[in-house]
Amino acid sequence: MTSEVMIGIETHVQLNTKSKMFCSDPSDQKDAEPNSNTCPICLGMPGSKPKVNKVAVKYGVLVGLALNCSINKRVFFSRKAYFYPDLSKNFQITQYEVPIAVNGKVQLGTNTIRIRRVHIEEDPAKLIYSGGDITNSKGVLIDYNRAGVPLAEIVTEPDFKSPKEVRSFLERLSSILEYLGVYDSTREMSLRVDANISINGGERVEVKNITGFENVEKALSYEIVRQNGLARMNVSVQRETRHFDAEMRTTKSLRKKEYEDDYGYIFDPDLPMVNLGEDYVLNIKSSMPELPEQMARRFEAEYNINEYYAGVIVYAGKDMAKFFEDTVKLHNNPQIVANWLINYVLKSLNWRSERISNSKIRPDSFAEFLDMIKNGEITERYAKELIKKYVDTGESPKSLISGGAKKVDKSELIKIVASIIDSNSEAVAQFRSGRLEALQFLIGQVLNKTQKQADPKEIKEIIESSLK
Ligand SMILES: [Zn+2]
Repeated sequence: MTSEVMIGIETHVQLNTKSKMFCSDPSDQKDAEPNSNTCPICLGMPGSKPKVNKVAVKYGVLVGLALNCSINKRVFFSRKAYFYPDLSKNFQITQYEVPIAVNGKVQLGTNTIRIRRVHIEEDPAKLIYSGGDITNSKGVLIDYNRAGVPLAEIVTEPDFKSPKEVRSFLERLSSILEYLGVYDSTREMSLRVDANISINGGERVEVKNITGFENVEKALSYEIVRQNGLARMNVSVQRETRHFDAEMRTTKSLRKKEYEDDYGYIFDPDLPMVNLGEDYVLNIKSSMPELPEQMARRFEAEYNINEYYAGVIVYAGKDMAKFFEDTVKLHNNPQIVANWLINYVLKSLNWRSERISNSKIRPDSFAEFLDMIKNGEITERYAKELIKKYVDTGESPKSLISGGAKKVDKSELIKIVASIIDSNSEAVAQFRSGRLEALQFLIGQVLNKTQKQADPKEIKEIIESSLK
């Protein structure tokens, strides 16, 4: 049975500003003791006054522009009222009536994903469910460090036709955000997804707070199976909010879904109207960094590499793209650089889930490696063996191959062999009487003399022909 699937998603992205959305507490909570980065503003104490973080507003505009949205020139903040322990004020400051950006689009293959809106808001506190998850734990701990961290919420229209498509979109989106420099993918829970899914025009079900692209795909795939199962039993799907259990790979009902209007949004009287003038937006537009799609096209044109290579390098991350360009400056053959990066280096890194910027290899040593292949100092076959060790250690390839198959100057080697034969008459006599250990000993002497820079096979041949 084929079913018509409609999926729309809301993505919450933590913006990597220095301070929180409405106060001056740091927004990065790495290594911070729970509840240590808080103040009367983000705890919502009586009498405290929030102030708008201008960098967060600018980031919101950047995200909107990068997703081809129009920017609203006058925006304001509203209070979304609800009672829950993750909000000490009993409301979240967000944008509802007039978001910072609207009506964008992202092209995903042949499918256009429309972006309904992008707005900025504050993150609620983090709830830690002790001894279980939201559906079965006996208690909950609250860490208000996260309360007030700026978020961009990106809402799409229900344009996705499959869970796989959602995953590709999220990979694309996180890449765009990274290139914009507004998001740090290494922060815990820095990108969270709520997905709405309906099948064959039925009620839509929301799966909330999924982290990890793979989990989003799994959660949605599970929902399709579950909703199709209900349809087969003639049970209609209920409009509700569900939670994804990553371990069990199932979704569980949390509550019947409320409607947005139920929240009773009101204009926040503590915060001013924000005017984003024409010049302000144009300025941001003109200083926008190169985005992955543009960069991939530039790589194809400038370096004459194919679309696939350009895409893999660019979407592997900004650091990988920079590594590629830096290496090409030193080893001027982009196709070779791309080939070795994609087929060997990237595979090694992916295997260890490591990014190139955190690895030990550098463009200069990588270029040295490629130079050595080009100059015939090492064979391509040997280089393929060596590259894993190089990525592991980051050591200069020249020092890595000592004792290996490096080609050294042959006339030099003949001289060294001759001097070793002269000064080891006993071993030479033993070799002549047929003792193979003597040959090994002589090879070892030559190797030592060359600081293990010569090929043992070549040494053996020279010794044998010298002692014929
Ligand atoms: Zn604060």
